[in-house]
Amino acid sequence: MATNTSITDPDSVFDKNVPRVCGVCGDRATGFHFNAMTCEGCKGFFRRSMKRKAIFTCPFNGDCRITKDNRRHCQSCRLKRCIDIGMMKEFILTDEEVLRKREMITKRKEEEALKQSQRRKISEDQQRIIDILLEAHHKTYDPTYSDFNQFRPPVRRITRSSCIQTPSFSSDSSLDAFSSSPDCVAPNFFSSLMLTEESRDGPSTPGEPQLSMLPHLADLVSYSIQKVIGFAKMIPGFRDLTAEDQIALLKSSVIEVIMLRSNQSFSMEDMSWTCGSNDFKYKVNDVTQAGHNLELMEPLVKFQIGLKKLALHEEEHVLLMAICIVSSDRPGVQDTALVESIQDRLSDALQTYIMCKHPAPGNHLLYAKMIQKLADLRSLNEEHSKQYRFLSFQPEHSMLLTPLVLEVFGNEIS
Ligand SMILES: [Zn+2]
Ligand SMILES: [Zn+2]
Repeated sequence: MATNTSITDPDSVFDKNVPRVCGVCGDRATGFHFNAMTCEGCKGFFRRSMKRKAIFTCPFNGDCRITKDNRRHCQSCRLKRCIDIGMMKEFILTDEEVLRKREMITKRKEEEALKQSQRRKISEDQQRIIDILLEAHHKTYDPTYSDFNQFRPPVRRITRSSCIQTPSFSSDSSLDAFSSSPDCVAPNFFSSLMLTEESRDGPSTPGEPQLSMLPHLADLVSYSIQKVIGFAKMIPGFRDLTAEDQIALLKSSVIEVIMLRSNQSFSMEDMSWTCGSNDFKYKVNDVTQAGHNLELMEPLVKFQIGLKKLALHEEEHVLLMAICIVSSDRPGVQDTALVESIQDRLSDALQTYIMCKHPAPGNHLLYAKMIQKLADLRSLNEEHSKQYRFLSFQPEHSMLLTPLVLEVFGNEIS
């Protein structure tokens, strides 16, 4: 096998400086075949000749010069040339060997596939994380919304646009406009909201607070903050962080998590958050009556639609909330390495879960799309902070907030 040594050194064989030319006919070579650099044609010719044990005779002088174009003319000299450049029949596999080689390749492929699937199996630790998060969510999210009765009641001012027929999203055509292109929001919907904005500038009924929905929604947000804190405390690893880091993470992520979890009540049928009875059915209009404008509400509704369309499993939903909370780039975080390691564990669990449990086609790029949602939340958070600062700067409004809201989102007055 001494003649074979060059194969073990692929760098020299496939060196770009070595011309890859067939040693038999001068055609472009495809590599080493039966111990010599040849083209596919001469490789096949040699194999067939050896298998047939063919004996050729040269019709000419026995010294034909073989070229790419004439290589078919004299089999005898072509075969002689094959042997001269070192092609050896010992390198030709017998049918049995070919079969065995094929079997080995198949077997290796199967083993690789098995290894892959084992690698993608949800580990016990990951399953434990998912179970804990599901339980944490169930303990902190009441899908009956019965506690909402304890909030200061919602007061909906009759605005001009409330009387105007809001475009119905139950009709198929307008829903299609929304669902086919989430980036292009149906124009009627938001222009009707713009009317609401205009009407707010109109004279308000004396004795009625300017932001009639603020007390109710402040209570709702305050309640949600408590629930998100409860959820965060149950995230595996969260309690390993210092109290300062826990607070830093919660303060900056809580509004994002509230937006995330509210997706559970969001309905694409009428673009509202439906939390039980009609009293607790929130439309964009209601939130604008609590001091937020369309700079926040338009991207927020788009976000809710986009998230709804991902049709996340509950496992993915709770993992996304946990990943959102445990982000090392939040302001004020000290032990970023620990935060990162906790988040990595959650991200791994999410990716593995999607691979193993989320069927096609819904799983296509799902992880990337979910991470994009986290980026969207950052800008929603920024816009919310801006509007909150403006709101809380007015004492007549900040006095309607709760101590917890003031503590978490900041108190511009004090
Ligand atoms: Zn050739
Ligand atoms: Zn010849």
